[in-house]
Amino acid sequence: MLDKHQGARLANLWDDGKAAGMTEPEKLLYRSNLLGSDKRITNYGGGNTSAKVMEKDPLTGEIVEVLWVKGSGGDVGTIKMDGFSTLYMDKLRALKGIYRGVEFEDEMVGYLPHCTFNLNPRAASIDTPLHAYVPKPHVDHMHPDAIIAIAASKNSRELTSKIFGDEIGWLPWKRPGYELGLWLEKFCQENPDARGVVLESHGLFTWGDTAKEAYETTIEIINRAVAWFETENTGPAFGGRSKPVLAAADRAAIAKKLMPVIRGLISAGESKVGHFDDSQAVLDFVTSTSLEPLAALGTSCPDHFLRTKIRPLVVDFDPAQPDVGNTLAGLPEAIATYRADYAAYYERCKRADSPAMRDPNAVVYLVPGVGMITFAKDKATARISAEFYVNAINVMRGASGVSTYVGLPEQEAFDIEYWLLEEAKLQRMPKPKSLAGRIALVTGGAGGIGKATANRLMQEGACVVLADIDETALEAAQTELSTRYGKDFVRSVNMNVTSEAAVESGFGDALLAFGGLDILVSNAGLATSAAVEDTTLALWNKNMDILATGYFLVSREAFRIFRNQKAGGNVVFVASKNGLAASPGASAYCTAKAAEIHLARCLALEGASAQIRVNVVNPDAVLRGSKIWTGEWKEQRAAAYKMDVDELEAHYRERSMLKLSVFPEDIAEAIYFLASDMSAKSTGNIVNVDAGNAQSFTR
Ligand SMILES: [Zn+2]
Repeated sequence: MLDKHQGARLANLWDDGKAAGMTEPEKLLYRSNLLGSDKRITNYGGGNTSAKVMEKDPLTGEIVEVLWVKGSGGDVGTIKMDGFSTLYMDKLRALKGIYRGVEFEDEMVGYLPHCTFNLNPRAASIDTPLHAYVPKPHVDHMHPDAIIAIAASKNSRELTSKIFGDEIGWLPWKRPGYELGLWLEKFCQENPDARGVVLESHGLFTWGDTAKEAYETTIEIINRAVAWFETENTGPAFGGRSKPVLAAADRAAIAKKLMPVIRGLISAGESKVGHFDDSQAVLDFVTSTSLEPLAALGTSCPDHFLRTKIRPLVVDFDPAQPDVGNTLAGLPEAIATYRADYAAYYERCKRADSPAMRDPNAVVYLVPGVGMITFAKDKATARISAEFYVNAINVMRGASGVSTYVGLPEQEAFDIEYWLLEEAKLQRMPKPKSLAGRIALVTGGAGGIGKATANRLMQEGACVVLADIDETALEAAQTELSTRYGKDFVRSVNMNVTSEAAVESGFGDALLAFGGLDILVSNAGLATSAAVEDTTLALWNKNMDILATGYFLVSREAFRIFRNQKAGGNVVFVASKNGLAASPGASAYCTAKAAEIHLARCLALEGASAQIRVNVVNPDAVLRGSKIWTGEWKEQRAAAYKMDVDELEAHYRERSMLKLSVFPEDIAEAIYFLASDMSAKSTGNIVNVDAGNAQSFTR
């Protein structure tokens, strides 16, 4: 049986009412978004669509034929009108006159900008000639799992003709580029009645006279493949199950232990962010008899392995006798072996002008009975790599169920991975931000200083887990930050920092969300005010619990993770001026803040040998956006100074040496400095951000 992901038929979503009145480019956009909205039709960023449209030339006023085709980068599901490049068809046809043959096909990419229509700045993609030379007005190129399952079968040509007869042709593997465009043109000339073609080890081309016809043909052809698999692929998935599936909570527990250790072992060159997937498709694969042999064959569709590397690493873990200690102990060698194999592959396949070897670590880690872990330079890339490997799993499941699955030949895979055109694309990428790939947890993350800190760290590319006890504020902060920086960068956990169990589970959730931890900002707090004779034991304990003990509990958990991860670590405490300077009527608060500062010094000493840095920021009188300043404390302080609450901000400003108010963003800036490599050689320090206060000068 096929799983739901591959088995369900695609619905025809074309709406004539919506399409009526659209221009041809608008219909192309409509069709692209419909196709790309379903991952069974094409993977994220994969495939492209085109239309040949008659338009008025802005230079001559003549009516000319223009190719609208998805430009370089981008994703058909989310593309907008500016994602298409536009090119003169007569110029594209004229390129045939200067084509020097297949060994020079890459140089043709350089001529595409010369064919641009209407100064469109969107760069044309490598797939442009594939669309240009198919002599049909509307062309779709998709990467559907069900079609790639046919394309990656040993007898893919025979299967294609068995399923589709003469309607759909077949072309052998050829790297996408100028030559493949000519092959497609020749195919269409020789088979004028064909409605499309399967490309071996790659995907599907379909076409039509109208946008609607192209769309419906694509859907119909994929559905026919799905239906065929439903009747033919009826055996157990991947030859049957040979390992048990652990319960969901146990799978998560194993993943939380493995992810930081793997991360530490592969993050030497650049910090990486992880993603965990234990969906049914993945579990079927990682418990099957075919796991090891199929994983070793590598992925087939070029889009898949560009994201996932040609092979995953199968982690040595036995779900029948789970002993994660043994698995963890074996990881350094398993990862070293993977890197050595990758380096050997590079040496075997490299050409004289190949770019230097890239990061040799695996992207995909398959854990029998548990699921799949992926690591990449950021969360979105890790998540998308996981999606791609699920596509690859579906392909292997289909192909191995009806035939023999074949991966792409090694040299072909290498030539795509180290294609000079790909390398040029990588070289054009902007320099990573200063905290790219770093993972931070901020306690009190929904409040003034906490949220400003999360914002500052995310601005620099970090992933942030907001920890707070205020569920409503937490939700609002997560929504605000994910709207600003993207959903992949932020998670939230409900955490009472005085509860050992809550702290442990909150950090566990962070590990599962991002795969590790680099930065802890301990900021959750409160403030109380009372003369010592009026300070109840309960009030004293409350200060000690939330401030001193809370900071201890979150630091201890972070230290445990840092030591397992073996990649250093960074702790920033948000203490207070009152931790250094005594203040009347707040002995419980001041004493607890002093405990935090001394705890930081002790931890700086203990962590140094493991490259764990611990520093303190001391704010003073940050009133705006602060939750501790909204309640009684504000009234108590105003009463203590015999003034109105509205006068407090001015009072503190006038009291400071610099005569300035201190805002959450000012504290966040100091935290960012201490959390970043700019302060790589500082530990055990205190940075005062209080607009100047002689009483709290450190010495
Ligand atoms: Zn493709």
